[in-house]
Amino acid sequence: MSQMTNPGRLIIISGPSGSGKSTVVQRLLAECQLPLELSVSATTRSPRPGEVDGKDYHFLSHESFTQKREAGEFLEAKEVFGLGTWYGTLRSVVSAGLNQGKWVILEIDVQGALVVLRDQPQAITIFVHPGSMEELENRLRKRGTESPEAIQRRLDVADQEMALKGHYTHEIINQEINNTVHQLCTLLTQYHGETIPCSKN
Ligand code: 5GP
Repeated sequence: MSQMTNPGRLIIISGPSGSGKSTVVQRLLAECQLPLELSVSATTRSPRPGEVDGKDYHFLSHESFTQKREAGEFLEAKEVFGLGTWYGTLRSVVSAGLNQGKWVILEIDVQGALVVLRDQPQAITIFVHPGSMEELENRLRKRGTESPEAIQRRLDVADQEMALKGHYTHEIINQEINNTVHQLCTLLTQYHGETIPCSKN
């Protein structure tokens, strides 16, 4: 009922691992005057230092993740780095946000985004990247949270993702964080007032 008068919107933000998009999204949530909400994904990877279960991700065992996948609880789910690590968007999380009129942000990889877009073509899509592969490699090495093999894998995936950025309506180069957050908030605010409703799942 209220969902008809106050429809939510779906926003998909992708970008190579190390592009800084998580930080951008956190700043956006804190600073942008729109009813934004982050869809907390599920993953089978272990938490990094400082990451909190239920806030950064729902950290699940492989067993539990598989169970939910087989029960159709994911809007999309993917083994992102081909090393047995699964990530997925929970339908329940997205529809709860949309039903409350929230602008639900999915921070997901390109393949996942393409799956969601088939279902929700009216989603606002934004690709965030650091400008060049060299810059990306520097950032990943500086972060120091992955092994050299994992970094190489992420760089290979990043290469493939960069090749698909044409599927996104907007592209933002994250060079200076304040500028990126401002640009994104301005961009999203321009969608305010449009009446295209998001379909629920
Ligand atoms: P990280 O392990 O660095 O947090 O995330 C690795 C990658 O997984 C990122 O590119 C991120 O966008 C992607 N990712 C995070 N959550 C999801 C999800 O729910 N679905 C998909 N397909 N990718 C996700």
